[in-house]
Amino acid sequence: MGIHLILGQTLRFDADPFAVPVAEAARHDRRGAIAVADGRIVATGAADALRRAHPGASIADMGDALLLPGFVDAHMHYPQTGIIASWGRRLIDWLAAYTFPEEARFGDPAHARAQADLSLDLALAHGTTTLASFCTIHPASVDAWFEAAAARGMAVTGGLTCMDRNAPDDLRDTAQSAHDDSAALLARWHGTGRAHYAITPRFTPTSTPDQLVALGALWAAHPDCAMQTHLSEQVDEVAWVAALHPGARDYLDTYEAHGLIGPGALFGHAIHLTARERDRLRDSGSAVVHCPTSNTFIGSGLFALGALAAGGQWIGLGTDTGGGSSFSMLRTMAAAYEVGQLSGTAIHPAQLLWTATEGSARALRRAPDLGTLAAGSAADLVALDLASTPAIAQRAARATDIWEAVFPTIMMGDDRAIAGVWIAGRRVGAATVKGFVTRPHEGTSI
Ligand SMILES: [Zn+2]
Repeated sequence: MGIHLILGQTLRFDADPFAVPVAEAARHDRRGAIAVADGRIVATGAADALRRAHPGASIADMGDALLLPGFVDAHMHYPQTGIIASWGRRLIDWLAAYTFPEEARFGDPAHARAQADLSLDLALAHGTTTLASFCTIHPASVDAWFEAAAARGMAVTGGLTCMDRNAPDDLRDTAQSAHDDSAALLARWHGTGRAHYAITPRFTPTSTPDQLVALGALWAAHPDCAMQTHLSEQVDEVAWVAALHPGARDYLDTYEAHGLIGPGALFGHAIHLTARERDRLRDSGSAVVHCPTSNTFIGSGLFALGALAAGGQWIGLGTDTGGGSSFSMLRTMAAAYEVGQLSGTAIHPAQLLWTATEGSARALRRAPDLGTLAAGSAADLVALDLASTPAIAQRAARATDIWEAVFPTIMMGDDRAIAGVWIAGRRVGAATVKGFVTRPHEGTSI
């Protein structure tokens, strides 16, 4: 198969910009290019050099657009797409009032597939190429998620959301059925195509100790899977967990005691942490996923991104739709910046972009296959128009470096900034949501 060259500005990271100075971590080419073959990146570098190296290559010239790895949404709930932006509740009431009635509909395979298709098309329209989703308690919801992703060639993670207490009758399983259904789905999907399975207890309040034991045993038998759940999102929730588990040292201990901690673990939110929890999360190699639009929308609190990252904690970024209020990882980065400001830390644009790509991919244990522009990585890419609206364009025109040029798009950009998306080297759509939703499968080769 021949070489394809995608031309534009390129921004790649040779190191974690939380760990080393930005100037050392990031490399910007004003006239850059990405060479792609067989769905993978062959090289990223200066356009002139790559054109000379590959004189017969086909070319997609994206002009001044900024080429990045596709965004990686490390925590979301595709079944909640239909209830995004529901008014006026905090976590526990929000689950009961909005989430559970909607999730009860996902036993219907047709409804599940339609919502999975919709969620993935919205993600692509916003430049997101990989997502880690909670499904529902219905195995059909997991099949729908992975089948819809496979139809688009997308690398996604997902799993059956297990609950055997404190949930409506029609959304409760048992410890045994959660284990057995998860095991069957894991066998069917983990490593099938680009699918990764995540063992998924919703959170401690909705899983009995027996269920946590069963899912911990399943993860021990399949340690290369992910394990995703929620941790310390709201103060009321933390108090509820303490009441349910009076012998536990803290919230994290309710997972740790059942083998649900370690590399591959993804803890959504992780806002209200004790010192012991912070240490254990880092030392165990677990990842936490920051979901800033959700944290402000549901009123949960301020995640300590700067402090945790400086301490070496692995951190991904997630929309947490539909508790989150946007499908856009640009908007999510903007919210992370705002939460950082309220917490006393100005997160650098390089750190925001890295967290939304390689940081999330690393949290999912899918880097460097995903989330980077390194040679050998999958060619899942996004091109950002850094002048997508008049308000953004007039600010970007004054920029003196790439960070000033991209920050207005991070803060004010949306799906209008998405100039192109590629899945495994194949361009999948135009710049409008309408284009993605109506023609999700009719991509053109570059
Ligand atoms: Zn969530």
